Amino acid sequence: MAASQMSGRAPIVVRTRQELRAALAATPRPVGLVPTMGALHAGHASLISRAHAENATTVISIFVNPIQFNERADFEKYPRTEAADLAVAGAAGCDIAFIPAVEDIYPAGFQTRVAVSELTRPLEGAARPGHFEGVTTVVAILLGLVRADRAYFGQKDAQQLLVVRRMALDLGIGTEVVACPIVREPDGLARSSRNVLLTPEQRAAAPVLRAALLAARGLWEGGERSGHVLRATMLERLATEPLAAPEYVSCADPATLLELDEIAGQALLSMAVRFGSVRLIDNEPLE
Ligand code: AMP
Repeated sequence: MAASQMSGRAPIVVRTRQELRAALAATPRPVGLVPTMGALHAGHASLISRAHAENATTVISIFVNPIQFNERADFEKYPRTEAADLAVAGAAGCDIAFIPAVEDIYPAGFQTRVAVSELTRPLEGAARPGHFEGVTTVVAILLGLVRADRAYFGQKDAQQLLVVRRMALDLGIGTEVVACPIVREPDGLARSSRNVLLTPEQRAAAPVLRAALLAARGLWEGGERSGHVLRATMLERLATEPLAAPEYVSCADPATLLELDEIAGQALLSMAVRFGSVRLIDNEPLE
């Protein structure tokens, strides 16, 4: 039976590079890859379903990548829910789940880093030194191991999407990087594996990110084109919520991610906001 007919079944679990290679040898192309850090939710499921619809074989990776965390505590408290993840992945149409140990991705003697320059400097790159080098290094490894025809990334991590697309293009990897829309909770909060770490009070306050983005979008729809005004509007809206500590708000060029004084064409609104030790991000394209 073709792997693509196995929708709804438990995925084949592989844990080493060798097991992955063997599983892939027995599955049809094209292959779609969804890289994740686990704690799967409806956002991940949407990527997996899309990959399943567009490819003969769908592979997900579940790997909490130590080198992309700039805070040890964030890495340690990151939720790990493998059994539930396999159920979500299988229901969404995943055929193969690659769940490596750290030593399988970074074996003894490992010494390579993949780094994208300008695009990683602002926003998340400025707030989280070394983060994107960790992301591009692990994604390059995963794309190389899976030799995916397509890889699926969420617009939720808008800068990551641009950075990975740039890397795949620059290195001639040959994988098409597919962007998928943000999946939200009914109250507008973007789905995130970190949402479960919020206290009930923080969770109740967290939709303020979406409210701030929509306040700025509303002004833009009314004709406002000043980046300064849109950034100030987002900060004002965030300030109405005492539990929210903004790290940055941005109104940037969606291709370069550099801040805009005046919006001439399209723009990307984005922000990172802390609720206690939990850091949430969200964004809204203006197009
Ligand atoms: P993560 O497990 O957080 O590293 O995310 C794995 C992939 O899922 C990334 O490409 C994310 O952008 C994507 N993703 C995470 N949350 C969402 C969401 N709410 N909507 C759409 N994609 C998402």
